[in-house]
Amino acid sequence: MVKLLVVGSVALDSVKTPFGQEDDVLGGSASFFATAASYFTEVSVIAVVGEDFPELHLAFLRQRGIDLTGLERRPGKTFRWRGEYSYQLNEAKTIATHLNVFETFRPVVPESHREPEMLFLANIDPELQRTVLEQVRRPRLVACDTMNFWIDGKRPELLRLLKDVDILIINDGEARALAGDPNLVTVARTIQAAGPTTLIIKRGEYGVIMFSKDRVFAVPAFPLEQVKDPTGAGDCFAGGFMGYIAGQTELNREVFKRAMFYGGVMGSFAVERFGTERLQNLTREEIDARFQLFRELTHLE
Ligand code: AMP
Repeated sequence: MVKLLVVGSVALDSVKTPFGQEDDVLGGSASFFATAASYFTEVSVIAVVGEDFPELHLAFLRQRGIDLTGLERRPGKTFRWRGEYSYQLNEAKTIATHLNVFETFRPVVPESHREPEMLFLANIDPELQRTVLEQVRRPRLVACDTMNFWIDGKRPELLRLLKDVDILIINDGEARALAGDPNLVTVARTIQAAGPTTLIIKRGEYGVIMFSKDRVFAVPAFPLEQVKDPTGAGDCFAGGFMGYIAGQTELNREVFKRAMFYGGVMGSFAVERFGTERLQNLTREEIDARFQLFRELTHLE
């Protein structure tokens, strides 16, 4: 049985930050998510790449133990995203989005993957997210991410999808744009009324805040000396969060709170280097050591 299924983008990213520039490196919401989650649980990817996608990247994902049965290779070019960050690293400026093979992609969930325990609808066209959700038996937990590109371009499709989602994980700018409201507390109420019982808002270097039915829980960002490239931080947060939960037998408030810390830890590693570089040689011991430091940061006797 599949533990954690993710649909999202597998991409070649070109990124410029004040600390450097890299072209055509491994990126995509599903790649970052699955890599982070692979430290905690078994994860399977549904996505598509083009003929130009390097074998090297597939080898890396496989070496992390990620199941790629649902990753198609199609004629055409891989999804490409180009983004830039200013010194204020909190928000990416999208320079170009080329959907390429994603434009005509109709995901087919393999028969063996149709009863996942948990499902993550990583950032991609909400119509593709919906197609995957409709092909699986209702998982224990369905979480979803999205971005301005889809909030602006496919709002009705996104709102329809949200009715069937348990947890929405988005950044503060996206949350405000989705609800059309500057106040995050009232934003949370509006989004919760649209479907998800839990809303997790990522606020970059200010941390993450979780609104559940009648409670709020906040976690700061782990203070880092070096932040080189924020790309993928959100997906790695979601990967750590969902991956940790998938490894637990019970779903309760304490599990969700710990998952917020593991998510924060994975996001913090992602931003220390460009692309997936820091995640290429990360160990579970390093993750657990940072988790302990992170707890101490916020502990009050
Ligand atoms: P984040 O965690 O928000 O920094 O996500 C960054 C990743 O999202 C990059 O690796 C991009 O390839 C991917 N991405 C950017 N725009 C889109 C889009 N419109 N749809 C799907 N994935 C995207």
